[in-house]
Amino acid sequence: MQQSPFKTRLNMINQDVVELLYSNAFNGLLITILSVSAITFGFDSGAGQETKQRVWGIILVFTLIRGLDAAYWFIKLRHANYAPELPFYRFFVGSVFTAVLWAVFGISFFDSMSTLEFASTMTIMSAMAGGAATVLAPSMLLVITYTTIMLIPMSLRAIYDHRDEYNMLGFLGVLFWISMCGASSRANLFIRRAIEIKHKNDELVDLMRNEQNEVKRVNLQLLESNQKLDQANNNLENEVLRRTQEIHRLSNRDPLTGLMNRTAFMQHFEWMIEQSVPSKNKLAILFIDLDGFKQINDTFGHQCGDAVLTAVATQLSQFCETDCAGRWGGDEFIMVLPYADEVAATAIGQAARSSLANIKQVGGNDVSIGATIGIAIYPNHSEDAATLVQLADLTMYFHKRSTPGVVGVFSDSLYDTLNEEVRLRDGLRQAIQRQEIHVVYQPIIEAGTKKLWAVEALARWCFHDQWISPAVFIPLAEKTGLIQDIGNWILHRACIDTAQWPDDSLSVSVNVSVLQMLNDNFIRQVDQAINSSGLAPHRLHLEVTESIFADDMAILTDRIAALKARHIHIAIDDFGTGFSSLSLLQALDFDLLKIDRAFVQQITEGNDTIVRATLLMAKEFGCKTVAEGIETPEQAAILEAMGVDCLQGYLFAKPLEKNALIKWYTNQHHSKHNSQ
Ligand code: C2E
Ligand code: MG
Ligand code: MG
Repeated sequence: MQQSPFKTRLNMINQDVVELLYSNAFNGLLITILSVSAITFGFDSGAGQETKQRVWGIILVFTLIRGLDAAYWFIKLRHANYAPELPFYRFFVGSVFTAVLWAVFGISFFDSMSTLEFASTMTIMSAMAGGAATVLAPSMLLVITYTTIMLIPMSLRAIYDHRDEYNMLGFLGVLFWISMCGASSRANLFIRRAIEIKHKNDELVDLMRNEQNEVKRVNLQLLESNQKLDQANNNLENEVLRRTQEIHRLSNRDPLTGLMNRTAFMQHFEWMIEQSVPSKNKLAILFIDLDGFKQINDTFGHQCGDAVLTAVATQLSQFCETDCAGRWGGDEFIMVLPYADEVAATAIGQAARSSLANIKQVGGNDVSIGATIGIAIYPNHSEDAATLVQLADLTMYFHKRSTPGVVGVFSDSLYDTLNEEVRLRDGLRQAIQRQEIHVVYQPIIEAGTKKLWAVEALARWCFHDQWISPAVFIPLAEKTGLIQDIGNWILHRACIDTAQWPDDSLSVSVNVSVLQMLNDNFIRQVDQAINSSGLAPHRLHLEVTESIFADDMAILTDRIAALKARHIHIAIDDFGTGFSSLSLLQALDFDLLKIDRAFVQQITEGNDTIVRATLLMAKEFGCKTVAEGIETPEQAAILEAMGVDCLQGYLFAKPLEKNALIKWYTNQHHSKHNSQ
């Protein structure tokens, strides 16, 4: 059942109400004591004075008890969370009892009071009731009870008095009570609303506090999440950085040696050139190629080869700054030296090469490491990184062919030579097709009879109206592989020309490169040349140089055996200039030894030891001997006297075109005939 608003207002008991009541208690009690004391001792009631003072005493004691109760609330309960009923009832009872005491006091001494005393008492009690209308207003029940007890008995007593002025004061008391009831009702309403608002405020404050706490909590969570996110981000960034560095390292480094790879080196070199552009500081680029690395790989295996490359990389790194050395590929390394001119770069290159030579043991194997180094200088030779590397490479390559193991600097003449080589190489490719290759024949004379015994077929190349020496184009043809076609063409030409010779006494000696011999088609090509020309095989001599001993002996032995089986003669050309193993000489079963021009030319100076030894050896092996490059009759006479079988040289004839050879032969024949 819902309570009426009035009842609610009367019964409303809570901590706020109690707090409002108690917080004003000390003032009210003090006023009570002062007021009751003033009336007790301010007016002399004669015989009733003593009773009055007793009542005063009771009021005083009771007020003090209420004071203690107020103090108890003030100290103990004010800030605590307590059940409001009991303190409220204590306060209620105390206040009502105070009012009762006042009423008893007033009515008891009414008759003995003077008009002034009554008026004063009535005024004080009205003032007390008036004060209570606001101070006790938190409890409507209390304020109504209090003011009623304070004013009504005293006012009614005054109204029923016979004196008009008392009646007047009694009526005024009742009117005052009515207005006080109204005032206290409004005050109560106001307080109630205030309390409600306060409660709402408290709720709002609580709500806000909760919200704030929630916001704080969420913020804290957010902060924690952010920190975790930051941490995760940092971890991620570090990981990305680490992986990027790893990828960068892997993509820039040669995995075996740890040096920069080709791409990374070029980038770095280009950057170094950019830095050097304003001041034109010199930069030397060294292209390093190991000598004999293939042999190390072949002999000791790839593992040892790898270890050698690593050792080389370590050594080279000591001759330049960090990130100034790279592996170009295979056994090629590259180095850039800032502020180094030709002299400094050569000195450092030589020191680096010597340090490589000091690597003597790798993986328990005895190794010997050499290197050929080509140098190009920025900005002298070029201002472009790629061109500089190319020039250093060309320089290395140039020296590698002629004098491996040197440190050479690029020069214009070297460039011209290499350029010429490129020009010749390109020209040589089309030389056969354009019929630029010719064969000339140099007569070989029988020593005793001075008869033409054989001719040596020698290749000639006429390139752009210029005769190119075979000493130039044969090595070029060997390097480019063109020697196969050129050699085969010459073989065919020589066989055809010789087969067409008027009589069958003439043999032809054809120079054969070792690369031709190693070719699987070689025997077939020889057969074809013989078959197509119709030349008797024994009239064909094939000249090989001693260099064949350095190559695959098993194949060469087979080839020579196959040729010998066809009665083709084998000659060792330029004998004495290379390295011949006597046992191999014996095994390969040669027919002819050609003593090199160098020994022939020494012979007039009395230097005949090698020729003598060669002749002895030839005799032992059952070979014929041919002395090459005879230019003087003395040379011819000495060699003939020493027992050389055949003679060849400008003294008898230079290499001649086929027709010129026939003419020469005819002339020779006639003059001999005439002289007989
Ligand atoms: P080679 O086989 O020892 O040829 C002899 C060389 O000595 C020839 O040089 C010849 O012209 C030269 N010569 C002969 N008599 C004299 C002389 O009295 N004095 C001087 N100073 N030189 C003389 P050429 O024709 O320039 O050939 C050089 C080399 O080129 C040849 O040396 C040979 O090894 C190679 N060659 C020439 N033609 C061919 C060929 O068709 N195939 C192969 N594989 N090599 C060839
Ligand atoms: Mg020869
Ligand atoms: Mg020779």
